Parts: sequence; structure tokens; C-alpha cells
Amino acid sequence: MTLTAGVVAVQGDVSEHADAVCRAAERRGREADVVEIRDAGVVPDCDVLLMPGGESTTISRLLHDEGIAAEIRDHVAAGKPVLATCAGLIVAATDAGDDRVETLDLVDVTVQRNAFGRQKDSFEAPLAVDGLDEPFPAVFIRAPVIADVGEAEVLAEWDGRPVAVRDGPVVGTSFHPELTEDDRIHELAFFAETPATQ
Ligand code: GLN
Repeated sequence: MTLTAGVVAVQGDVSEHADAVCRAAERRGREADVVEIRDAGVVPDCDVLLMPGGESTTISRLLHDEGIAAEIRDHVAAGKPVLATCAGLIVAATDAGDDRVETLDLVDVTVQRNAFGRQKDSFEAPLAVDGLDEPFPAVFIRAPVIADVGEAEVLAEWDGRPVAVRDGPVVGTSFHPELTEDDRIHELAFFAETPATQ
């Protein structure tokens, strides 16, 4: 059965996420059709959703203005998977610590935007992630810190701070898993509970 993967295409690494979900699906013996989400009406047809990085203030404003925010909330309420990365995680969080971001309250964490510090605006780190056998090459770009974790489960920490979490069907990362050839985070988010078919 073909999987319909919707990528929020307001801003950010849309094609990189599309490629990663297609590769991860193929490894699981599945095919993925990728659709870009810019307007209301697309999310209800999606099996899984990706919320890329970018600028969280802009993304959250457009999602609400276009009526997409409510559809994403319904998708999660129906138990369907979402991968939210960097600014996507900020938008998906319960609390973004910034009034200019209207969050979707999908992942029970409080984040601090751009909190990994100026010297470390951008860096790559080998990250141990729960559910993955080998470290994941995590690329951080003006990444948010997850300052407080409520009901969410921590999947990875860097420097003693959570950088990957799962809350029900939603996986959120401070880093950008779409920026390497390694698509195991996409696989973890979308196929972890599906038995491999080959
Ligand atoms: N700094 C951005 C924000 O706070 C997030 C950075 C990113 O997505 N790479 O919205």
C-alpha cells in the first residue's frame, strides 16, 4: 500500500524530507507518495506528516492563517505519525517560550529558541538515539533546546539536554535529520511499529 507523506511546505527543507521519507519507506518495502502542504485540505489525505525547520514564527503564523493547524491537530488526535524537526518541533511544542510562536501543543515540551548558543550556531554531532543501533549524525542549525519535558519520552540527549523526543505519534528533534543521507530518524518516526516486510 502506498503511503501518502505530507510535507509542510511553508518553509524549510521540503525536498530533503521528501527524499528521506521515500528512502525509509523503500527500505521497509513500501512506496511513498509525497505531497506538499501549503493550503488546507491536503492533510486529511496524508498518512504521515513532516514539519521541517525554518523560522518558527513564520511557519506557525501561516499554519494558523491557512487553517492547516487544526488539520494537523486532528491528524495527531487520530494517532497518525508526525516528524517535527527544529523549527517544526518549536511549532509542535506545548510551549515555545516566545509569544510570537502560536504552538500546536502536540509534543509536551517547553523549548527555548536558538538556545544552543552563538558559537555553536551550527554543528554536527554523533548522537545516541533510543531505537537506533548506531549513533546518528545530527546536524544542529540555530537549534532549540528542549528546556522542560512533560509527558514526552526523551529519545536522545546532547550535552545533557534532550534533543529528540516522542509524544504519542509525534517524534520531534532539535536537529535536522533530513540533511544527511541517513534516514533512520524518518524510519523511526514512521515505521518503528511496522514489522519489516523483507
Ligand atoms: N531558529 C529557528 C527558529 O527559532 C529554528 C532554526 C531551524 O529550523 N533551523 O524558528
